[in-house]
Amino acid sequence: MMLIQKNFQVIKESLLECERKFNRAPGSVTLLAVTKGQSIEKIQQAIAMGQRAFGENYLQESLPKIEALAGNDLEWHFIGPIQRNKTKKIAEHFDWVQSIDNRLIAERLNAQRPSHLPPLNICLEVNINQEPTKSGVKSEDIYSLADHCLTLSHLKLRGLMAIPAPTDSFTEQLEAFHQLRLLYENLLEKGYLLDTLSMGMSHDWEAAVAENATMIRLGTSLFGTRN
Ligand SMILES: *Cc1c(COP(=O)(O)O)cnc(C)c1O
Repeated sequence: MMLIQKNFQVIKESLLECERKFNRAPGSVTLLAVTKGQSIEKIQQAIAMGQRAFGENYLQESLPKIEALAGNDLEWHFIGPIQRNKTKKIAEHFDWVQSIDNRLIAERLNAQRPSHLPPLNICLEVNINQEPTKSGVKSEDIYSLADHCLTLSHLKLRGLMAIPAPTDSFTEQLEAFHQLRLLYENLLEKGYLLDTLSMGMSHDWEAAVAENATMIRLGTSLFGTRN
């Protein structure tokens, strides 16, 4: 069996087991396959395994992949930092943008989303550990950014995304994801119509599932180390 095929089987089984362990409905956690630094051939193997949702971090790297794989009915998620001169192409070629942390970028994506396409699905990226050098909006600023995004008709606010500081401690992983979960639940209580809590990567996705992630973003555990 090819390596990628095997990895997908192992991860999908572990995910089902993890959902069961933490009383999550089976199949309630979406798997986003993160393909930065991975070849088109590997992505094709993932498609053959039934994978449809893919995440990319760098515009230049992603465009040839998106073009080469057009016609496969895929869903492309932009998950990397966004420079303002890249928003037009992102708005034209992606279905989701998970890394929005300021108004200007949201406004540009809204203005540049082609009108023949459905609204661009977006998540707001939260800087959950308040790391000064990291991207992401501060928790307390999430409400005003969310409100602003709701006024932009070519964007559809779906939820929150975060990349907590890496740690091997399961307890610390849970703590960080719990913060994001509370913020998400608070937004739901206030009436925001959200359905996406995107958190958890190869090293910490089980803790994310335990804290009610609806989407985990896996790269290396599916595809091996990146180029
Ligand atoms: C690279 C990346 C991932 C995947 O990371 P792995 O550790 O390879 O699973 C997930 N989310 C974001 C935002 C990333 O940049």
